[in-house]
Amino acid sequence: MNLIKKKIGIIGGGQLGKMMILEAKRLGFHVVTLDPGADCPSHSISDEHIIAAFDDPQAYIELAEKVDVITYEFEHIHAPVLEQLEAKGHTIYPSVASLKIIQNKFTQNQALEKHGIPIPRFAPVNSADDIRALGKPGAFGYPIMLKATLGGYDGKGNALIRSEAEVDEAYTSFGGGKIQVMAEEFVDFEREISIIATRGIDGSRVIFPPAENHHVNSTLDITIVPARVPDSAVAKATGIAERVMEVFEGVGTFCVEMFVTASGEVSVNEIAPRPHNSGHYTIEGCLCSQFENHIRAITGLPLGSVELNQPTVMVNLLGESDGTSRLVGIEEAYADPNVRVHFYGKATSKKGRKMGHFTCVDKTVEGALTRAEKVKKIVKIIGE
Ligand code: ADP
Repeated sequence: MNLIKKKIGIIGGGQLGKMMILEAKRLGFHVVTLDPGADCPSHSISDEHIIAAFDDPQAYIELAEKVDVITYEFEHIHAPVLEQLEAKGHTIYPSVASLKIIQNKFTQNQALEKHGIPIPRFAPVNSADDIRALGKPGAFGYPIMLKATLGGYDGKGNALIRSEAEVDEAYTSFGGGKIQVMAEEFVDFEREISIIATRGIDGSRVIFPPAENHHVNSTLDITIVPARVPDSAVAKATGIAERVMEVFEGVGTFCVEMFVTASGEVSVNEIAPRPHNSGHYTIEGCLCSQFENHIRAITGLPLGSVELNQPTVMVNLLGESDGTSRLVGIEEAYADPNVRVHFYGKATSKKGRKMGHFTCVDKTVEGALTRAEKVKKIVKIIGE
């Protein structure tokens, strides 16, 4: 196989796409990206960039004609046209069948439930009365998580209903029936963890070590690896990730987000059919990152080691203010040689927008956390 000649198409030119390209280019692959943004994070390093909307079927066809394999960096894309392309013989990884199930949180939960994978109880919701019925003792009870079935990210698309008094307002905030929603029982978790897993074309699989995730305003703030959960929870979570990979037969990298309760029970929150923010630690923490393994998987190469080299902490850098983006504090942060900063290169900073991240490694989790606390005060991405 002449690797240099293989061409990869990536739908989405954000930071995940950019990090995939960095790995693909190391091996000399030709990469074509599709994204509406002319100056999206990927544009400066992809070989060709198609500027088009994610619902523009013609652009998907153009991409397919240019490449040997298509992948994607986020799931809210045009599945019907991908399905047609797959039927015509184009290669798309992960498969469009898994993408379609995962795109919709309700069908995703149904698939997991069907295969006996532990998930919070969930139910379709067609009226505010449906929610009130679920809020009764004996049903889910309050609090209830109301979730839009399509298009959610970073908690946008979720509403926490604490009591019956909040039902009408929450339901109305989803358009009172205009947007398809579902209810989930609230999991009183002690920890949120995630496991990244990659499957190769030959069926081989690697499961990365579980990551402990902390969110602020429903957006990932910090990831700590190894996750500070009992060994029994690690074993359960790893088993669940293996089974999830069997359910979604796709080739490529998946992320399984999970809840761990105080009594050590593990259930799945959601699946992403792509590399994930909570897997960024793998770039510094493992020999073969989630991105490199994804590229290896979709191009038919053997997968690489996912063993954790050292305890690793990843901290997201959100925009501090609006305006032209600027990274500040890197010189001072790099006084610590165990720190690496990733600046995605988004031209415009917005308060709360994911603009970059940094990673600290150390011999101990405590050491990595101490370094991260210091760097967090120094490195900022501002708008000016
Ligand atoms: P998104 O798809 O927008 O990332 P998620 O469904 O993952 O949204 O939810 C975002 C966060 O909301 C989760 O990380 C978790 O903290 C919380 N959450 C989601 N579902 C539940 C649930 N059933 N019980 C408790 N917390 C939940």
